[in-house]
Amino acid sequence: MKSMPKIELHLHLEGAAPPAFIRGLAQEKHMDLSGLFNPDGSYRFTDFWDFLKVYEAATSTLQTPEDYRRLTLAVLEESAANGVVYSETFLSPDFCGGRDVGAWKEYLHAIRDAADQAERQMGITLRGIITCIRHFGPDKARETAVCAAETAGDWITGFGIAGDEKVLQPKDFLWAFDCAREAGLRITAHAGEWGGPESVRAALHDLNPERIGHGVRAIEDLALVDELAERGTVLEVCPGSNVALGIWPTFRAHPIGKLFDRGVKVTVSTDDPPFFHTTMAREYDMLSDAFDWDDSVFATLNRTALDAAFCDTDTRSKIAKRLEAANA
Ligand SMILES: [Zn+2]
Repeated sequence: MKSMPKIELHLHLEGAAPPAFIRGLAQEKHMDLSGLFNPDGSYRFTDFWDFLKVYEAATSTLQTPEDYRRLTLAVLEESAANGVVYSETFLSPDFCGGRDVGAWKEYLHAIRDAADQAERQMGITLRGIITCIRHFGPDKARETAVCAAETAGDWITGFGIAGDEKVLQPKDFLWAFDCAREAGLRITAHAGEWGGPESVRAALHDLNPERIGHGVRAIEDLALVDELAERGTVLEVCPGSNVALGIWPTFRAHPIGKLFDRGVKVTVSTDDPPFFHTTMAREYDMLSDAFDWDDSVFATLNRTALDAAFCDTDTRSKIAKRLEAANA
């Protein structure tokens, strides 16, 4: 399903880095990262916590705005090749200039420059969501939120939280979320991936996000599933990521089908695609096999995603026309 136009809402920029790109950067900088890769060149990790370590080690090669400009182009090239026409990516001032506002602005300038080039050359539109990292703690999240507030606008349009769900609580990050919201940023939060339904409830009730990253373990509590459907909260579901990390054994066992059938607004994304040996086209193929979903279901998911996209109305209607043209 490579050619079907797709909307992707949940993509970590560093996590989307092709392994060959990271190996090339490491070589240029004389860094030895050979332990991070399998013999076939893919990223090597054993479980989610090991994945976080490998992720941070791979990210350590990205040291300058120019590195991020090249990364953004490499990532968007992959996305566009898989039919993605609109994408939102998570950006972390933690990795881009150590949460210093001036340094962050330079990184952002380089990332936007690459995004503009990709839009001209590959027809893919990108917007940025700034995320604080949960296991780095609330103090660093405040600094991240200040970076977010300082650069909020028509391109940095959202704020969220990622990282290890097993430490701290959403309410520990209220200051950061209030700061982002006051700056006009729209809110999403990772929950219900490693934490159970209680983590989705905590994110929902404490942070009041429009969207939840993953959220899929809500399936363990049907009252919560119904609440998500009633509120119209959009789930950024990443089935291949969940299967690769062993939360469910197969696509067929993944709850996206049940959530969709029960009226929850689900969307499909790849999270950190090369880490999970996936692409947007592969996600669609696997879902189509697992649930017998046809093009009309995917068209519904893409409309849901576009409605939930953190972009302005002009951008939304421009992208809507591209979806409509493909479905005509
Ligand atoms: Zn994620």
